[in-house]
Amino acid sequence: MNNPKSVKIVLAGVVAALAVAGGWPLYKHRHFRVPVVAGPGVTKVLKLSDFVPRLKGSKADADVFVLEGREPGGKALFLANTHANEPAGLLACVILVENAVVEKGTVYVVPMFNASASRNTKPGDGYPLYFDVPTDWGAKRFRMGNRDASPLEQWPDPDVYIHYPDRQLLSYIDVRNTNRTWPGRPNGPLMERVSFAAMELLRRDKVDVAIDFHGAETMFPVTNCIVAPDKSSKIATLASMTVKAMEGFDSHVEPSPKNFRGLSHREIGDFSDTLPFLLEAPIPFLDQPTGPKTVKLMLDGKDPFLLSLSKKKKLFVPYDEDGWPMDKRVGQHLSTALEILRQFTKKNAGRPVVLSGVPRYADLIRDGVGKYFRDPAKSSKVYYE
Ligand SMILES: [Zn+2]
Repeated sequence: MNNPKSVKIVLAGVVAALAVAGGWPLYKHRHFRVPVVAGPGVTKVLKLSDFVPRLKGSKADADVFVLEGREPGGKALFLANTHANEPAGLLACVILVENAVVEKGTVYVVPMFNASASRNTKPGDGYPLYFDVPTDWGAKRFRMGNRDASPLEQWPDPDVYIHYPDRQLLSYIDVRNTNRTWPGRPNGPLMERVSFAAMELLRRDKVDVAIDFHGAETMFPVTNCIVAPDKSSKIATLASMTVKAMEGFDSHVEPSPKNFRGLSHREIGDFSDTLPFLLEAPIPFLDQPTGPKTVKLMLDGKDPFLLSLSKKKKLFVPYDEDGWPMDKRVGQHLSTALEILRQFTKKNAGRPVVLSGVPRYADLIRDGVGKYFRDPAKSSKVYYE
C-alpha cells in the first residue's frame, strides 16, 4: 500500500483482462454465422425487413426462404427459433430448406425467427454457446440461443409489458419474447416488429397454414403436443391421430387458450385467415432439476434426475434410459408438420400444399439428423444465419 496509484493501475488491468476474457467468447458467439444451403426447392430468399422496413440492418432481421411449387396451390409458413433455446425446430427448418421440393403450392421457411435471441445466451444457467451435429462431411455447428431477444438489440425493458392491442399485462421479460409479441405493430418494440413482419407476410400472401416449432420441458403439461385454436383443431386432431397410428409417436392436441394473449397459435388465427399450429417436442435440457446443462444433455436428452422423477410419475411424457434424443424430436416435428399439410390438402382440394424430399420420423431415427444437412463447401447457394 506504499504506492496506491500503482495498485489501482494493476487492479484496473486485472478487471480489464477479466472483462476481455469473459466478453470475447460472447462476442464470437454473437458474430458466429451458421451456413444454410439453399436446396433444390428454394426459388427465392426474402427478409423479414421486406415486410417491416424498420427491421432492415438490425440483428433482428432474418431470412425467409421461399419454395415455390411446380404447380400452384395453397401456402404454408414454417417458423423456428421463436425461442432460440429450443433448437429442434431450427434443425427441422434447415432440413426443410436444404431438402424439400414443393410439388404443389408455396412454402415459406424462417429458420431463425428470433434472430436476436439466437445471439443471446443464459450464463446463469450455464448454457453452452454452441452445439455440433455430426454429419458425413464433419460437424455442423449451430449457435445455442436464449428464450428472449438480446438486450443489445432491445433495451431497456419496461416494468410490465402491456400487450398490444389487448393491453393484457404480461411479465416485463415478455417484451423480448416473440411468442408474446404477436400480432405486433410496425412501430412497436423491436420484437413486436418481428412478429408484425410475419403477420404481414401471412396476410399479404394469403398463407393458409402457419406452423411454429417449439420445445417444452418434460415437467410442463403442455409438451409433446400440437397447440391449436378452434379453427385449426380438426386438422390438428386428424394429424395427431394419424402420426400415432402410422408412425407410432404421440403428439396430442392442446386447445389454444382464448384469454392468454400474444402467442402465435392465438393471434395468428385471430388477426388473419391463416390456420395456426404450434408444435411442442419435449426438451429435457430445459427442465429445472437436471444435471449440468451440457451439449450432450441438449442432444440426447438423457438425465438421471429426470429418470428418477419419471419413476415417481412427475413427468408429462414417458421417459426411460434412452432420454429424448434430438433425432426423435426433429423427426416428430417434421412428420407432424407434413401430416398437418396433408390433412389441410385433403380438406382444401383447391389449395393443395404438397412437399417431397423431406425425411419423416422413421428416417430421422434411422439415419440421424446430420444425414440430411448439405455440405456448404460443395454449394454455391449458401446463406448465413
Ligand atoms: Zn417455445
